[in-house]
Amino acid sequence: MTRPFLTAVFVIFTLISLGQVNINKDSSHVSVVDIKVTLLGTGTPPPLMERFGPSILVQAGSETLLFDAGRGCLQRLRQINVTYDKISALFFTHLHSDHVVGLPDLWLTGWLVSQRTKPLNVFGPTGTDEMITYLQKAFAFDIKTRIENDKQLKEGSKLLVKEIQQGVIYEKNGVKVIAFKVDHGIIKPAFGYRIEYKGHSVVLSGDTRYSENLIKYARGTDLLIHEVVIAPDTLSESDPKYHIVALHTTPEQAAKVFNEVKPKLAAYSHIAKPFGNTEQEILKRTKSSYSGPLIMGEDLMIFSISDTISVNSWQNK
Ligand SMILES: [Zn+2]
Ligand SMILES: [Zn+2]
Repeated sequence: MTRPFLTAVFVIFTLISLGQVNINKDSSHVSVVDIKVTLLGTGTPPPLMERFGPSILVQAGSETLLFDAGRGCLQRLRQINVTYDKISALFFTHLHSDHVVGLPDLWLTGWLVSQRTKPLNVFGPTGTDEMITYLQKAFAFDIKTRIENDKQLKEGSKLLVKEIQQGVIYEKNGVKVIAFKVDHGIIKPAFGYRIEYKGHSVVLSGDTRYSENLIKYARGTDLLIHEVVIAPDTLSESDPKYHIVALHTTPEQAAKVFNEVKPKLAAYSHIAKPFGNTEQEILKRTKSSYSGPLIMGEDLMIFSISDTISVNSWQNK
């Protein structure tokens, strides 16, 4: 059996009794969707084919919002037929490379292929402006030749940066994006995001350890997409990989978060397994102290949020 099929079976058995969440194999069955969330990449730094770099697309009303631009986000967008010119804005949770390395491809190839004609607004923590300035310098040769030889419109190559603080950072066409601080250890600042539309919401944890502030901002959300790291119970602080675990959230800690937030559905993305543990272990360890709806995210999984939440696995990877 294929992994998506197993996931579908798992979801049916886990969630069907709750009456709030269901799974469809055909997204055309979804009637009125207020917020559509697509996991473009659910991985971490290791270059896995089945889990691309972290990136999540949130579509609500006329807004198409991209959160992080990890490795391969442009290819994943291509798979769901969303072109670069359709992106309303890009938001970075923090500037770790796994969350930003997909940007040059997204931006430059996206501009070339989609022939975008207007700048892209980019929101991110302190340091985003400097990073973008250097990227624009690094790719100045390409940008110049695309304008001169390929007759690309210069406006479409522009990235307009706004560095953010905690609070409402974007409000357009009924869609509100709220940034909140999370705890990614020494990586400061690092943000999570809450996106609201028509009385529904999705919360993205970004990279974080157990965070009380996240719980505060996530409470009552329909969908909570949270990161996770799994390590052996016996891991000692002297282990060379301990620092990875110390920056992220263990399944037991995530269970505590889910119990506080009580989302209609919790999903894992940014799944870190530096010691080779399995995803089943992550779910098992979470469920030992959390009994609510929970799903292991996978690339191109789609969540359709209205008064219910539908989950669709991608069948054509
Ligand atoms: Zn990360
Ligand atoms: Zn990080």
